Amino acid sequence: MTPSQQIYWHTTTHMPGEENTSTPLPEKVDVAVIGGGYTGLSAARTLAKRGVNVAVLEAETIGWGASSRNGGMTLTGLKLGLQTVIKRYGRDNARRLFQCSIESVDTVEQIVKDENIDCGFARYGHLLTASKPAHYEGFKGEVDFMAKEFNHAVRLISQKDLKSEIGSDAYHGALVDEVSGGLNPAQYVTGLAHAAEKAGATLHARARVNSLERRGKRFFIQTERGPIQAESILVGTSGYTGNATKKLQKKVIPIGSFIIATERLSDELAYQLSPKNRMIFDSMHYLNYFRLWDNRMIFGGRAAFFPENKNTIARSAEIWRREMVEVYPQLKDANVEYVWGGTLDFAFDMMTHVGEADGIYYSLGYAGHGVAMATYLGKTVADAMMNGNIKEHPFAQFDFPGAPLGLYNGYPWFLPFAGAWHKILDWVE
Ligand SMILES: Cc1cc2nc3c(=O)[nH]c(=O)nc-3n(C[C@H](O)[C@H](O)[C@H](O)COP(=O)(O)OP(=O)(O)OC[C@H]3O[C@@H](n4cnc5c(N)ncnc54)[C@H](O)[C@@H]3O)c2cc1C
Repeated sequence: MTPSQQIYWHTTTHMPGEENTSTPLPEKVDVAVIGGGYTGLSAARTLAKRGVNVAVLEAETIGWGASSRNGGMTLTGLKLGLQTVIKRYGRDNARRLFQCSIESVDTVEQIVKDENIDCGFARYGHLLTASKPAHYEGFKGEVDFMAKEFNHAVRLISQKDLKSEIGSDAYHGALVDEVSGGLNPAQYVTGLAHAAEKAGATLHARARVNSLERRGKRFFIQTERGPIQAESILVGTSGYTGNATKKLQKKVIPIGSFIIATERLSDELAYQLSPKNRMIFDSMHYLNYFRLWDNRMIFGGRAAFFPENKNTIARSAEIWRREMVEVYPQLKDANVEYVWGGTLDFAFDMMTHVGEADGIYYSLGYAGHGVAMATYLGKTVADAMMNGNIKEHPFAQFDFPGAPLGLYNGYPWFLPFAGAWHKILDWVE
C-alpha cells in the first residue's frame, strides 16, 4: 500500500483553515507577527494579554509550518551538546540557557492547562539511545556532568536493562530524562491559535508578507492580502524564512525532516515497542526519532537534507520504513499509512537566536528542537519587546552568525555536502 502524503496529525484535529482569510487586515497595529506557528502564536497570545494590538500574518494557513508537522517531542536541553555550549559561551551562560529549556517545557505544560488545550501533553520523558558502544561509554559521564553542572537528573540504562524502555536490540544502552514531555503538535498549535485569538490577537491566513519598509517609526508592510502598518515586527518564520526578511533568511538554513506513521498497532505490540511511551531519539548525526501516538509508530528523521516536496517525501517513506524495521523488526509487516515532511531552521552555529535589528525582532534557529523552545521564546521575546530589554534575554547574548565568507544567499546549495559530511561523521565517530 502506498502511504498517503497527508500529514497524519492533521487527521486528528480541525486545523485552522480558510476561515482566517475572510476578515480584512487591520489598517494599523502595534505589532505585526510574521508566521503563524508556535513562535508567532505564543508571542501574539502574550502581547494580546498585555493589551497590545497584534496581528499574526501567515503565508499559508495558521499552524501550516513545522508546528503542525513535527514529532511532538517537548524536550529539555538544546540541540547543541552542553559541553560545547559551556566551551563556547561559558558556564554561567550555559546554565541560564539550560534553565530556559527546563522553563520551556513548564511553559508548554502551563499553557496547555490554562487554555485547556486537548493535545495529550504528558511528561513521558525522553530516551536517548546509544547507536554505538562508544556512544554509550560517552553517556556514562553525562549523569555526573548534568547533576554537577546543571543540577539536572538523567539516568543511565545499560543494554541488558533496555527492554524496560524500548523493545529493540538495536542499541547499546540509553539515557533517560524524565522531565521531557510529548504532545500532538497539530492539536497543540490549533489550541494555541484559539488561545491567541481569545486573548484578542487577530490571525490572518493567506497573508504572505512580500515586503516591509520602515518610514520613521512605522513599518509599512505589503502582504498578499493588502497593506498593513505596524510599530514593531516580530519574525517567527523558522525554516520558511524568505525574501521579505532577506538579512534573516541568509542566516537560516532550511533542512527537510520527514516522518512516517504506521497503521494502529495492537495494544500488546505498542507496549512491547515502547512500554513507557517515551520520546525516543538516537545518538547519530543523521538521527532517527520516534514515539507512539494512539498506538501508531511515528518514526522520523532527516532522510534528505532538502526541504519537503513530493519526491523527497516519497523517497523518505521507503527510507524510514527500512530504518524503522531495522530498529523494530516486529514492524516488518506493519502498514505505513502516512508520510510527510517539514522544514527545520538551522543557524550556522546550531544555536537558537533572538534579538532585534533595525526595529525587527526575531526568534529563529530552533534546529529541530522547537516545540517547547518556540513556545517559550515567543512568550519571552514578546515580554522583552514590551519591557524594552531584549538585549538581556539569555538567547540574545551571542552573535547570530551568517555563512562563512558570506557564501549563502538563502539557497542552500551546500546541503548535499553537509548531508554527506554528517554521514561520514556517523561512520567514524
Ligand atoms: C518533521 C519535523 C519534526 C520535528 N520534530 C520536532 C520534535 O519532535 N520536537 C521539537 O522540539 N521540535 C521538532 N521540530 C521543530 C519544530 O517543529 C519547530 O522548531 C517549531 O515548530 C518552529 O515553530 P515556528 O513557529 O518558529 O515556525 P513554523 O511552525 O515553521 O512556522 C513558520 C510559519 O511562517 C510562515 N511564513 C514564512 N514566511 C512568511 C511570510 N513571508 N509571510 C507570512 N508568513 C510566513 C510559514 O508559512 C510558516 O507557517 C520538528 C520539525 C519538523 C519539520
